[in-house]
Amino acid sequence: MALIPGLIKGLGVTGSTMMRTIFPGGVKKPIPSPVKGAETVQYPHEKEAPPTRARGVIALHEENCTACMLCARECPDWCIYIEGHKEKAPPRRAGGKPRQRNILDRFDIDYALCMFCGICVEVCPFEALFWSPEYEFSEPRIADLLHDMSRLSEWMETVPDFEDYEAGSQQKKLKVPPT
Ligand code: SF4
Ligand code: SF4
Repeated sequence: MALIPGLIKGLGVTGSTMMRTIFPGGVKKPIPSPVKGAETVQYPHEKEAPPTRARGVIALHEENCTACMLCARECPDWCIYIEGHKEKAPPRRAGGKPRQRNILDRFDIDYALCMFCGICVEVCPFEALFWSPEYEFSEPRIADLLHDMSRLSEWMETVPDFEDYEAGSQQKKLKVPPT
């Protein structure tokens, strides 16, 4: 029984919001105009500027990627596909042993599966993945939501400049590999 007053109050709030939306002019001008009264943005006629750190699309900084597979292993949706091969690299010091280097052949993200959790960006130890606030990449064909390495690299142009972390936040440790 204690629920009834809360229910009535809730219905009252919903009803008054609905009336404000349908009749934004109020009782003085009771002309229905829900588009004018709606709090929501009338996309695509109107566009909101997303905040700098919005999770729009993931961009790949190809040169920093070592094909370590960490992001693909941690992705809960298994929607990152990476292939690579090993190449011999010159030793770091004269007389040293030649090194092996991973070369990236394929890096795809399937945005039809991605849930934008950001785990891949967080776990990448080499600063190869970044969020871009760009969100307009819908496709009529679901298969076209698979972005390959070149498309993911193109998104880098839309990644905003780094802004200082807020006080008290945890900073990510940069580990860019030696070239
Ligand atoms: S944001 Fe999450 S779901 Fe999407 S690719 Fe990265 S780890 Fe996978
Ligand atoms: S975690 Fe980073 S460096 Fe490793 S494969 Fe993913 S993007 Fe490349």
